[in-house]
Amino acid sequence: MANVFAFAETRGGELRKAGLEAVTAARQLADATGGGEVHAMVAGAPGVGGVAQKLAEVGADVVLVVEHPALARYDAETLTRTVAERVKSGGYRAAVFSATAQGKELAPRVAARLGAPLAADATSVSAEGGAIVVKHPMYTGKVIGTLSIAASPALVSVRLGAITPAPNAKAGRVEAVQAVGDPAQSKARVVELREGSKGKVDLGEAPVIVSGGRGLKAAENFKLVEDLADAFGNAAVGATRAVTDEGWRPHSEQIGQTGRVVSPQLYVAVGISGAIQHLAGMRTAKTIVAINKDKDAPIFKIADYGIVGDVFDVVPALTQAVRAAKQ
Ligand code: FAD
Repeated sequence: MANVFAFAETRGGELRKAGLEAVTAARQLADATGGGEVHAMVAGAPGVGGVAQKLAEVGADVVLVVEHPALARYDAETLTRTVAERVKSGGYRAAVFSATAQGKELAPRVAARLGAPLAADATSVSAEGGAIVVKHPMYTGKVIGTLSIAASPALVSVRLGAITPAPNAKAGRVEAVQAVGDPAQSKARVVELREGSKGKVDLGEAPVIVSGGRGLKAAENFKLVEDLADAFGNAAVGATRAVTDEGWRPHSEQIGQTGRVVSPQLYVAVGISGAIQHLAGMRTAKTIVAINKDKDAPIFKIADYGIVGDVFDVVPALTQAVRAAKQ
């Protein structure tokens, strides 16, 4: 019976949804490999350990708390050393990270330090015959690869939104862990953070995303997309590369191969053709609704619901209907 490690991301002392998803995936792996413990690590400024209870609720038996004033901001060097040391000394069967911007930096660094295999961007995790089995999209999502990892520890990063946190209460015993090395001495330090979408729902964590494409014709017409997102209440706004290249929306909102990869519960594609590079960023959304005036647009091939029509007619009507349904 082997234990499984998870790195739970926090931001400003708050647990990110990605952190809950990583711990949920670790719980699934621990249960699939014989019911071992899940040890979830959080790192941050003093006080970050306050999130322990939330991690216990989704299956953490132990919460490893790394507190240091210099860890108030993400520090790749210190976290790599600290996580690698713990994964090595803990003898874990697997270590789970989030496939976020942070996780995409941290997990490969830890893998390199340990000489361990890393299966990146997993959409599901399980075990078979002692091996860790991971499914992940490949070739911009055209195929789903299945990886079977016999080596231990197996490192896995999970795609945002792909694993749904489920209640599975465990003890969540808190254990303080010392940062390895002095975070204040790190060669690279984050000196400033600029929030791209302050006050708005984060694209990676939003359960609903309303995305606009060139079919909207001009930057000011994104008001239609914003209004629909507002009507949902918990939605973020996304865009295609055609749109960000035009400067209609910031690059931080771009979804796709060279933008963000998202897996919301609902993705509404407004005036988007469905180029393969765009699909690479959103095809794992649970439900896809497409609005396009061209009935042959490729987006309809992957859409669960398609509306053939003009966005300038359909979107205001949809916004009204969503608002009415919410009253
Ligand atoms: P278009 O392809 O021009 O589609 C506009 C759609 O709007 C059409 O289907 C049209 O029928 C519809 N339309 C027009 N008017 C209306 C109307 N009034 N009502 C309803 N529908 C209407 N793209 C990304 O999105 N993300 C990426 O990360 C990305 N990375 C790339 C990387 C590389 C290396 C390359 C080469 C390309 C990449 N692209 C990416 C670009 C991609 O190939 C497409 O060009 C882009 O996705 C198209 O954006 P679009 O759907 O907004 O525009």
